[in-house]
Amino acid sequence: MEPQRSPLLEVKGNIEVKRPLVKAPSRLPLPGSRFKRGPDQMEDALEPEKKRTRGLGTAPKIATSRPRAPALTTVPQTQGQTAAPKVPKKTGPRCSTAIATAAAAPSMLGGKKPSKRPAWDLKGQLCDLTAELKCYRERTQTLDQENQQLRDQLREAQQQATVLGAERRTLEGELARVQAQAEQGQQELGNLSARVLELEERLGTQESLVQELQKEQLGLQEERRGLATRLEEQERRLQTSEAALSGSQAEVASLRQETVAQAALLAERGERLHGLEMERRRLHNQLQELKGNIRVFCRVRPVLPGEPTPSPGFLLFPSGPGGPSDLPTRLSLSRSDERRGTLSGAPAPPTRHDFSFDRVFPPGSGQDEVFEEIAMLVQSALDGYPVCIFAYGQTGSGKTFTMEGGPGGDPQVEGLIPRALRHLFSIAQELGGQGWTYSFVASYVEIYNETVRDLLATGTRKGQGGECEIRRAGPGSEELTVTNARYVPVSCEKEVEALLHLARQNRAVARTAQNERSSRSHSVFQLQISGEHAARGLQCGAPLSLVDLAGSERLDPGLALGPGERERLRETQAINSSLSTLGLVIMALSNKESHVPYRNSKLTYLLQNSLGGSAKMLMFVNISPLEENVSESLNSLRFASKVNQCVIGTAQANRK
Ligand code: ADP
Ligand code: MG
Repeated sequence: MEPQRSPLLEVKGNIEVKRPLVKAPSRLPLPGSRFKRGPDQMEDALEPEKKRTRGLGTAPKIATSRPRAPALTTVPQTQGQTAAPKVPKKTGPRCSTAIATAAAAPSMLGGKKPSKRPAWDLKGQLCDLTAELKCYRERTQTLDQENQQLRDQLREAQQQATVLGAERRTLEGELARVQAQAEQGQQELGNLSARVLELEERLGTQESLVQELQKEQLGLQEERRGLATRLEEQERRLQTSEAALSGSQAEVASLRQETVAQAALLAERGERLHGLEMERRRLHNQLQELKGNIRVFCRVRPVLPGEPTPSPGFLLFPSGPGGPSDLPTRLSLSRSDERRGTLSGAPAPPTRHDFSFDRVFPPGSGQDEVFEEIAMLVQSALDGYPVCIFAYGQTGSGKTFTMEGGPGGDPQVEGLIPRALRHLFSIAQELGGQGWTYSFVASYVEIYNETVRDLLATGTRKGQGGECEIRRAGPGSEELTVTNARYVPVSCEKEVEALLHLARQNRAVARTAQNERSSRSHSVFQLQISGEHAARGLQCGAPLSLVDLAGSERLDPGLALGPGERERLRETQAINSSLSTLGLVIMALSNKESHVPYRNSKLTYLLQNSLGGSAKMLMFVNISPLEENVSESLNSLRFASKVNQCVIGTAQANRK
């Protein structure tokens, strides 16, 4: 866009146009200019009058030279003719009459003397000359006046020139100022033009921005309308909510009252619940006592693939007095005695051996079924009663399967140890709601040939079976502990699994060193349980022992004993001695003998606190279903029957 020319620019234009006029030399005399003139010019300027005087001065000369007649006659003519046209040009109309008079004198003289006076007529000539002189005098007078006038005019003109000079200087000053202003204006104009351009550019962007903003504004207006509608809706809802709130507040107040009442009720119920829990423990214990503080369960393992099928009727499970609905408690084993013959020589009929236990598990019984039966007993350990579970039987009868579980980590074949611990953890959590807190510490040792080895050993001691001794936990303490053995706190299944895995690894390492060692050693898993009810200041603690006993088989005395066999015999004797010590301990407890030979074996010594009056005991007698094992099976069943006949005192909870 072309910027509008400012008035300042126009002013300059005018000035530019006029400049040549200003610069042109003035015709007015400038102050001091007279000093700059040349001598000729100065003469012209200063003495115009002189010139004229000189011109006039010729007249007297003419007059003085008048005696020369011939000259006299010609001079007036030439003088009058040359002076006459000059005067009117310089003096103007005022002196024109004088000049005319002066001019007229010669003409008159010339005109009035048509005839030359005779030389004698001196009087006439004098008269003429007087007249002529008079005429010149008059002319001189006139010229003097004119001269005076001209001087006045000159003075006036000089004054005027001075005034005009001053005026010119003022104007020049003003002009310089105006020019400076104009230049400044020009510069400002340039700046303004640049600014205008910039503003125009900005205006362009602003316009597009404005358009965008307008669009946005439209959008916002739309949104605002939407929000307004929503606001109205929300307000309506708020009103409804407020109404509901006031209703709710009233409800809250009544609920608070109710809560207070409930809290009181809850406290009362808590009290009652605790009472009930204690009652449950008492009744539970009574029930266990009724069942007997020492119980024996018989478990017959199934025939494994590849094993000969026993003849029908070899093992029977007669139903109880209540019929097949009764849980099996009886077992009948038949043995045909080849040495006994009938008189007719026919083979003697097999001898039936009947046994009765607290419970009998035929080959098809699952691990869960077995555990179900001991779950209540395990729970007694949480109530503060020491619990000890044994697995007794010949090698290969299923002791380890019962205690630890089957191979492959299948949950279906999990043994009693992992199941018992899982059960304890979950019950402990339930009791946590009633203010009880429990902690569990596990240990797992092996007793082989009357030496104790840690099955939870790790690192360098792994599989080495570092020297372990059974010691009292402290001076005067009833508690026993195994030196050099690891006692590991456990709180979840995974930790227990890891421990069992470690024990299996440790056994496997030892097995390569000594063949079939595991069958000749007792594995003792012990869990120290500590419970506390902080609010009531109650504490209870008891050990749970799960023992996988060494194989109960006897060495055939008819076999010839080689050097290796002798070693085996010693082992077997040790096993048998510890197993018989266990039997003796149970007997002594049952007979309430004053001396209980706990110290006769490492096993009974270690289990001292889990056997006896205050403890609950359960023995699994594991039986092989094979006919070839009938002898060992009978031995085991007889041992178990003896144990089953024992009644050991009244169990007491270890409560403080
Ligand atoms: P032990 O520890 O008495 O020497 P094991 O527990 O090692 O006997 O059992 C010997 C074999 O019989 C193992 O292969 C085991 O898996 C298997 N077995 C034992 N009891 C059962 C059972 N109830 N069900 C299935 N298999 C069993
Ligand atoms: Mg075993």
